[in-house]
Amino acid sequence: GITSLAPVVGGDQTVRTASGAQVRYANFDYAASSPALTEVAEVFTQALGQYASVHRGAGQFSQITTARYEQARETVRRFLGGRADDTVVFTRNTTDAINLAAHVLPADGDVVVLDIEHHANLLPWQRTGRARVVVAQPTFAQTVEALDAELARKPAALLAVTAASNVTGEVLPIRTLTALAHRHGARILIDAAQLVSHRPISLAGYGVDYLVFSGHKVYAPFGAGVLIGRKDWLDDAPPYLVGGGAAAHVDLSDGADWHTGPARHEAGSPNVLGAVAIAAATEAIRGIGFELIGYHERDLLTRLDEGLAELDGVTPLQIFDDLHDRVGIAGFSVDGRPAREVAEYLSDHHGIGVRDGKFCAHPLLTRLGHPDGAVRVSFGLGSSSEDVDRLLAALAEFLG
Ligand code: PMP
Repeated sequence: GITSLAPVVGGDQTVRTASGAQVRYANFDYAASSPALTEVAEVFTQALGQYASVHRGAGQFSQITTARYEQARETVRRFLGGRADDTVVFTRNTTDAINLAAHVLPADGDVVVLDIEHHANLLPWQRTGRARVVVAQPTFAQTVEALDAELARKPAALLAVTAASNVTGEVLPIRTLTALAHRHGARILIDAAQLVSHRPISLAGYGVDYLVFSGHKVYAPFGAGVLIGRKDWLDDAPPYLVGGGAAAHVDLSDGADWHTGPARHEAGSPNVLGAVAIAAATEAIRGIGFELIGYHERDLLTRLDEGLAELDGVTPLQIFDDLHDRVGIAGFSVDGRPAREVAEYLSDHHGIGVRDGKFCAHPLLTRLGHPDGAVRVSFGLGSSSEDVDRLLAALAEFLG
C-alpha cells in the first residue's frame, strides 16, 4: 500500500453514510482546497499566541509579529527561487493576486491567455479590455505555435498561463512558454495555484516574471495568497487598495506619497497569520521534498488511472495529447450519468468527497464537450492507496 506522506489536520475524521455506517472521510478535493498540514497548524497556533499589531507597534510581540510577516515573504521567495529584488505581495488568494497583476499591467499593454484557464486567470484580464484569447490546440506543440502566431501578429505585454490545469492536472512546460513570451518581448505570469505544492519551480532559473498561488491549495488555511515577481510594474502602478500602510506621507491636499515595494499594494492590516501559514507550508513541503512528493503522487495516480480505465463508461478529460506530467488530479465523465449524481453517491454512501461541476473553467468544459460539468478527483499529501481503492470500489458499485 501507499501511505500518506504527511499528517493533515482532521485527516482521521469519520462521517456517517446514508446507511448509518461511520467511515473515515476520504478527501478527494485537494485541488480545490487542501487540508492544513498539522505542522502548519502548529506554527499558526504559535503565531496566534504572540499576536500583536504588525509594522507600527513598538511592543515586543508587535516586533515578533512584524518579523514573522516579513520573514514569510523571504521564505516564500526562496521557496520559489525568486530573484533577490522580486517583490512578494501577500494577497487574499490567487484570484486577488491576478486582479492585482491586471491592475498593474501597463496601460498600453495587451495580455494573451489560453481558453483553458480557470476564470481567475481569464476574467481579470478581460476586464482590462486588452485580453486576447488563444484557443488551445489538441497538442501542446500546436498550442505553442498558435501562441507564437498570436504574439507575432501583434505585440503583447504579457502571456498569462496556468502551470497546471485545475481540470485535468496536466502540467504545462513552463520553460517553453517563458522562452516563447520573452522571444516576443512579452513577460509571463504563471498561475501556479495547482503547481506550487506538487512540483518545484524557480523563478530565477526559469526566467518567469510573475507567479501567483493560494495558501489554501498548499496546505495552509484560507484567506492568503501570493503574487511574486518583478517590481517595476508593481512600483509604477497606483496602489491596488488605498489606505493606511500604502501611504508614506498624507496631508489634506487630495493625494499622498505612496510606498514602493509590497506595502504599496497591501493597504490595511494584512493577513499576518495567513502569510505565516503559507511560509510554514512551503517549509513543510521543502522538508518532505519534491522527489518524494512526485513519487507518491505518480504512484497514486497510476493506481487511480488504471482503476478508472477498467470501469465501463468512465471517460477521462484531457486537454493535450502530448503532455505526460500530471499533478494528482483526474477529471472524468460517466456515460449517461450527471456528474452531480456520481459525486452525491460517493458522498452519501461512502463518505468520499469529490468535486463535480465546471471547475470555474466554463470555456474549457464546453469546448471539451462537457457543458454540464464533469467529476474531478484530486488528492495530495494526506492521501493513501486505501483511499484510492475505496474510491474505485465505490465507483464500480455505482456503475453496477
Ligand atoms: N487558478 C487555478 C488554476 C485554480 O485551480 C484556482 C482555484 N480552483 C484558482 C486559480 C483560484 O484560486 P482562489 O480561489 O484561491 O483564488
